Amino acid sequence: MIPHELLEALHAVVGDAGLVRDASRRTPYECDGLAYERCVPDVVLLPASTEEVSRCLALCHAHGVPVVPRGAGTGLTGGATPVPGGVLLGTGRMRRVLEVNAADRFARVQAGLVNVDLTRACAHEGLFYAPDPSSQAACSLGGNVANNSGGPHCFKYGNTTRHILGLVVVLPDGEVLDLSGPEVDPEGYDLVGLFTGSEGMFGVATEITVALTPSPEVTETLLGIFPSLDATCDAVSAIIAAGLEPSALEILDKLTIAAVEASVFAAGYPADAEAVLLIEVEGAPVECRETSDAILAILERNGVREVRRATDELQRKKLWAGRKGAYGAMGRVAPDLYVSDVVVPRTKLRELVRATTDLCVAKGLRICNVFHAGDGNLHPNISYDRRDADEVRRVIEAGDEMAALCVAAGGTLSGEHGIGIEKRAQMELYFSPVDLALMHAVRDAWDPAERMNPGKLLPIRACMETRTRPVPAPAEERA
Ligand SMILES: Cc1cc2nc3c(=O)[nH]c(=O)nc-3n(C[C@H](O)[C@H](O)[C@H](O)COP(=O)(O)OP(=O)(O)OC[C@H]3O[C@@H](n4cnc5c(N)ncnc54)[C@H](O)[C@@H]3O)c2cc1C
Repeated sequence: MIPHELLEALHAVVGDAGLVRDASRRTPYECDGLAYERCVPDVVLLPASTEEVSRCLALCHAHGVPVVPRGAGTGLTGGATPVPGGVLLGTGRMRRVLEVNAADRFARVQAGLVNVDLTRACAHEGLFYAPDPSSQAACSLGGNVANNSGGPHCFKYGNTTRHILGLVVVLPDGEVLDLSGPEVDPEGYDLVGLFTGSEGMFGVATEITVALTPSPEVTETLLGIFPSLDATCDAVSAIIAAGLEPSALEILDKLTIAAVEASVFAAGYPADAEAVLLIEVEGAPVECRETSDAILAILERNGVREVRRATDELQRKKLWAGRKGAYGAMGRVAPDLYVSDVVVPRTKLRELVRATTDLCVAKGLRICNVFHAGDGNLHPNISYDRRDADEVRRVIEAGDEMAALCVAAGGTLSGEHGIGIEKRAQMELYFSPVDLALMHAVRDAWDPAERMNPGKLLPIRACMETRTRPVPAPAEERA
């Protein structure tokens, strides 16, 4: 329970609009996209400025109350899942674009701004914000920073960290740290780089300075239609091996196509295809033509059945709407969706897509694949019903086993979704006790009391073994 005195003090900072106490209005905050982990927060705070965030964090710090930052709650690993006895602090009222500087190609925004709204705000200057998570119509830039998010076009442009120039961060005790540059190569340690990907455990980002990218001269969008998922994977491996650089290479398998085509996101993907490969090539006209020709030759060599080309912006948008709406479309299959996120060597795409799929099928789970193939970033998606305890147990087991399989094959635990609660225990598969102890030491430097988003990302046991002082258990395990 949050002490009454603290609630009153928080209310004095954020007012009625920024304090959610009513149970029915708190329930929507009980989880993020990892639906089997839930905890209704005792209170939700929605401050409207850096100053309000600072005063709220100082008050929570003084009362020893944990704080979980939250953007739009689209995370898929439980990163924004509330903790018992803690406060959930959302950035939903901090959505302003503060500055667009077209000449120097950067923008300053509040952390709650929705990703796609930034591109909308600078498109008239011939600029865009490159990282484009498929959730970009909903997710916040603060969440993108905390998770170092990727997206289909990050194959060419790189994940969020490549685009963040500066931050204003409120530290867990309420102190404001202004790292808002923008400096390309700052003196001293790269604190902005360190904060990016810290999953809400170092403080709350309230303002973000991002690099803007010039819109490409030409964009060519192709859809390769394949008779098998194996052949689609092989085509991607061959494109990578040939050193070609399209901006996006996305695979959707047969079950995903069926779900998309039955939904409002229907994109005209052929129902009888075993898989489709959505390809985008961007750049100067000559560069685009040469890259697309080379890709087309590779598709042919790998048995593509047909290649379609978007001839106008409407067709292009439709093809992408199918890809970006794929998770939403899966809502037709079952009430809940577990989206795994693992990375594999791109020479082993066929083998590991098959192995992860077989593993889920053997557990009687409904799996489909839609993923950033160019980055070797698999998303085996399992449709399930969280009310079925046995099915949830099998989903969790499958997630753990898929991660272990991909790490053993030379891959990594996450390409973009982060670790959160979902993969916390598996950090030990990839990192040594020394690595983990160092990460804990870094976390301690930002948050010595360990009350920012406790119980996320870092496995508890490995750190306790290598640390010299006891680590408090995360709130959910104490409860
Ligand atoms: C349909 C769908 C498609 C998706 N596609 C992609 C994709 O293509 N690529 C990708 O990378 N991800 C994808 N995701 C995952 C998710 O959208 C991203 O991780 C996104 O960055 C989360 O943003 P959010 O605002 O929803 O953050 P939340 O889910 O609210 O929070 C995520 C994490 O960030 C922390 N946090 C949030 N705001 C702040 C802040 N201001 N300061 C400090 N910490 C903060 C939270 O504590 C939490 O740990 C997808 C999710 C969905 C539902």
